[in-house]
Amino acid sequence: MLASREGEPTLACPDFYLGCAGPDPYFYDVYPPTPFVRSRTDLGRKLHHIPGRELFDGVLSAMKPEDVPFAAGLLCHFCLDAAAHPYVYARQEEIGHTQMEVVLDMQVHKAHKEELGELYDLQEGANLAAIDGYMSRLVEALTGEKTEGVYRRSARKFRRLHLLSRDPRGTKRRLARRLEGPLGLKKSLSGYMYTQGIADERDFLNKNHASWAPFGKGAMNHRDSFLDLFNQGLDLCREALPLLLKGDGKGLCTLTGERMMY
Ligand SMILES: [Zn+2]
Repeated sequence: MLASREGEPTLACPDFYLGCAGPDPYFYDVYPPTPFVRSRTDLGRKLHHIPGRELFDGVLSAMKPEDVPFAAGLLCHFCLDAAAHPYVYARQEEIGHTQMEVVLDMQVHKAHKEELGELYDLQEGANLAAIDGYMSRLVEALTGEKTEGVYRRSARKFRRLHLLSRDPRGTKRRLARRLEGPLGLKKSLSGYMYTQGIADERDFLNKNHASWAPFGKGAMNHRDSFLDLFNQGLDLCREALPLLLKGDGKGLCTLTGERMMY
């Protein structure tokens, strides 16, 4: 879908890959806090809880032609979160939310190693100034708030931390493991390292189809593995992406409806 023939524009560019991080960069605004400026991690939470029918109205109305790759990435993030975030919440007690997502990322990477190859930085060169403009138009359309500069600041911190966590050989993970004990760190530092091929010791992918309750609440009536959920997200994306590319806001709002990123 994202491949291009020679000379044709492609969606698979740095702006698209930054878009795939969705509104998550806002969560990183506090790492580290900016002196005398309020950290806007709340925007990450707010955007995750807006239903698709409202969110994509904003996504399309704020979108100029140059914003299409980023908005397409945002849509991919929405589809995966809508399908799989309830499962991450269901099991986060065992290991922590972000650490769980790191294991899942690395396991999906392992399953698709042939196509994906080494971990590398796909967001390098994204047009942060233009994307910041887009995100502030989007946030204003959704909440009425003016947030110029906030996305750019958050995305820089997000990218810096992710590049620091990039650990293809597992050296940082081993070092962090050695420090955790003596430093008495409550949260596992090593769990944040993106190490290719790390083991899925506690079947976080749920290959055994054990039952689980969405968000860890109510009846344990789900048995999907993470890869099942990943594929459900892909199916939604296959339907939704052509609508975004056509600028069919109505179709996109109807399709995504009450779903959200949670
Ligand atoms: Zn998210």
